Amino acid sequence: MLLKRLEAFGFKSFADRIEIEFDKGITSIVGPNGSGKSNVTDAIRWVLGEQNIRSLRGNKAEDIIFTGSSLRKPAGAAEVSLTFDNTDGKLPLEFQEITITRRLFRSGESEFYINKARCRLKDIYTLFADTGLGKDSISVISQNKVDDILNAKPENRRLLFEECAGITKYRDRKKEAMRK
Ligand code: ATP
Ligand code: MG
Repeated sequence: MLLKRLEAFGFKSFADRIEIEFDKGITSIVGPNGSGKSNVTDAIRWVLGEQNIRSLRGNKAEDIIFTGSSLRKPAGAAEVSLTFDNTDGKLPLEFQEITITRRLFRSGESEFYINKARCRLKDIYTLFADTGLGKDSISVISQNKVDDILNAKPENRRLLFEECAGITKYRDRKKEAMRK
């Protein structure tokens, strides 16, 4: 599974549509302070289903929508898409390429898509569970995350090992079954 492309518009500082192609190997994003480097990783975590707005450095959901500037009016919605090469079939869907999209309108309405078909947030979680890109995964390590992991309670740290061991989806299914 290879991350191929990130597209965003109206997300945080990205008033215009941005597109980042990820090649094989390492991609570095460099730029001055405040230029939007961390906003790129925020966009990745958001489209993967991050619901904790504080961890995206906002106070309310709307804070991730471009607020406008002296030259630009605020965006009405934020949209982020992430495209994966799935020729190795790591993602459990019969597509060679998979694009997930998340959109949030100022009205608070939010939408999720897998290859342009509307889906639920839960479908996104299920798609990535145990791939190392799940919502609680450590594929994206933000500033402070290392300290959080070291200082976490043992039971919380255990979740991390469960995700790495690939058993998260069974725990989620069990939790759901117990609710029924
Ligand atoms: P550093 O090197 O200091 O870590 P960075 O390149 O990681 O900087 P970011 O934190 O990604 O920078 O970007 C912060 C910028 O994004 C700030 O200028 C902030 O005003 C802008 N920003 C954040 N949310 C929004 C929003 N909703 N609308 C417009 N701009 C926003
Ligand atoms: Mg930063």
